[in-house]
Amino acid sequence: MKVRDMDVNSPLVVVLGTGGTIAGTGAGPDDVSYRAAQLSVEQLLQAVPGLAGLALETRQVAQIDSKDMDWSVWQALADQLQEVLARNDVGAVVITHGTDTLEETAYLLHRLLDVHKPVVLTAAMRAATSAQADGPRNLRDAVRVAEHAAAQGWAGVVAVMAGVIWPGHAVRKSHTWHIDDAFDGGGDVPLGRITDSGTILEGMPWPSPGRGGWSCLEPGGVPPRVEIVTSHAGADGRLVEALLTQGQQLGHAVGGLVVASTGHGTIHQALTRALEKAELQGIRVWRSSRVARGGVLSREGDHWPAAGTLTAAQARVALMLDLLGVPCGGMKD
Ligand code: ASP
Repeated sequence: MKVRDMDVNSPLVVVLGTGGTIAGTGAGPDDVSYRAAQLSVEQLLQAVPGLAGLALETRQVAQIDSKDMDWSVWQALADQLQEVLARNDVGAVVITHGTDTLEETAYLLHRLLDVHKPVVLTAAMRAATSAQADGPRNLRDAVRVAEHAAAQGWAGVVAVMAGVIWPGHAVRKSHTWHIDDAFDGGGDVPLGRITDSGTILEGMPWPSPGRGGWSCLEPGGVPPRVEIVTSHAGADGRLVEALLTQGQQLGHAVGGLVVASTGHGTIHQALTRALEKAELQGIRVWRSSRVARGGVLSREGDHWPAAGTLTAAQARVALMLDLLGVPCGGMKD
């Protein structure tokens, strides 16, 4: 942990590093094959000239490719966040993350955050050694947004990518390799933008943070098992049957299933039959959509709940929190 050039007049921003492509390195500037999570968060900040002289503190919470995100890293992140957000000298937190599961972490934090300060996630689509590296700009923007939001008294979880501020509950990866439109809000509009020169253009008010629930994440506790199954041509439900059998054999039974449904929440009839059997065994079933935008909105007469505009991966997090009894309620935010 290091403190850089603390200015007592500005609120301290703590930057938590978790790895990702933003901290990735390759053999050269054109190298598309690189290894994520190689540079420390301190090294990332040192590579951004515009951040010199700001009140920043760093902590390396994890050093992973976010495709490998798991409950233990989320717990470590939750613990660190709780600790730093409770400090009076801390105005805001920035989290450097991989792009692959950023939408899950952002949604989880949005649901659990009960401290009224800004938390800004950022990432990069190119490694730090790439000639197209987008990490330094994203990190500069994220710190500026964090400071600005803290000064305005705004709170909540947002993600800053390619000059756009997205609400944490809605942000999702929307392109596998583009830099400028790699993320969107699944229909939700940006909360604001940051110009190339770093000016913040405000748009929408920030969403209210969740109502808390850290206490539901017991240290070392085993999370409820929630799996995602996709409805597609030829779906026969055998995957669901296998999950039930395997869960019983392993002694870690599936508590919930999120269906990445076709269209507006429709499910292949064969998969439906398997899900009905799962439901009879006490397994909770939620419907999200495999379609990129629009989600599945609740309608009268729904048999299985609709996950609103959440992606299947976010709906999985939401169902886990529901099974944990997190008192935040609702699936659509
Ligand atoms: N696999 C990387 C990660 O999510 C991808 C990225 O950061 O863009 O950590």
